[in-house]
Amino acid sequence: LIQLSVPLNFIGFIYREIRQGLTDIEQMFDLLDVPQEIVDKPGAKPLVVGSGKVEFCDVQFSYDPNRKILKGISFEVPAGKTVAIVGPSGAGKSTVSRLLFRFYDIQGGKILIDGQDIRDVTQESLRAAIGMVPQDTVLFNDTIAYNIRYGRVDAGEEDVRKAAELAQIGPFIERLPDGYRSMVGERGLKLSGGEKQRVAIARTILKAPPILMLDEATSALDSHTEQEIQAALDLVSKGRTTIVIAHRLSTVIAADEIIVLQDGQIAERGTHAALMRKAGLYASMWDRQREATEAEERLRIARERD
Ligand code: ATP
Repeated sequence: LIQLSVPLNFIGFIYREIRQGLTDIEQMFDLLDVPQEIVDKPGAKPLVVGSGKVEFCDVQFSYDPNRKILKGISFEVPAGKTVAIVGPSGAGKSTVSRLLFRFYDIQGGKILIDGQDIRDVTQESLRAAIGMVPQDTVLFNDTIAYNIRYGRVDAGEEDVRKAAELAQIGPFIERLPDGYRSMVGERGLKLSGGEKQRVAIARTILKAPPILMLDEATSALDSHTEQEIQAALDLVSKGRTTIVIAHRLSTVIAADEIIVLQDGQIAERGTHAALMRKAGLYASMWDRQREATEAEERLRIARERD
């Protein structure tokens, strides 16, 4: 039993990595020779992206039948606008991003991109239209240039360099002993969370997708790094339909609409100012966060005094 469960666990591990890393899924599935749960409809057509409007209409979803995760979620991201999704841990925020990629099929409602149900189009065209900047980017054991070029494999050296500059990681790469040829990943140079996220941003800049899905890191970044990443993200999301799972106040303040998820339902929605005035769940979330930040700050000052 042990002999069998180890490889199964390992496959499970790889499988989760693929799901989370959103890497070259079809190819990986071919390699692993496991059946893909989601198949294209017979005669599925490629997604035709116009302005890039995203709609969730009464979406219901559960991973297992006994536990509903999304209980009828409706929201719209108009073309070029940004919607931030916030809410307590386990509320279903990442699930929303997995569903947009159609990693799972929903049990009720519809998800539309420019009016097309995502179940009616090819998965390849769907995933080509969406750029993902995950919380934790998986890097390949290869050069940093290869890792950036992954966003668009035919990109030239100059394009890779430009994308890195825009993603605010250019100077960091130039300072490495082997520059763009430096090996990264498990067997190479270890990058910090913020650096990996900027590699993902550079990839996305090369891919230039009409729709963006950002999953902000929950872990605290120092304020300088945070500003750099914010600047890079502002740049990629400009003029693109963007859904962001937001953990930073600066991101949500700038969002056109904020959706507060709780227990698989939309508890509140609106702009930052309107939600603060409402003094509900959203406002209390930020108050708690501010208290935590202030406490940290006091601790830091006290440490510096000692
Ligand atoms: P966090 O802020 O902690 O990342 P979240 O709001 O993104 O949380 P989700 O990851 O969407 O939450 O998960 C919502 C619920 O679905 C959680 O209770 C989680 O346990 C459950 N869940 C997530 N992935 C799976 C899965 N693959 N199989 C079964 N249940 C899952």
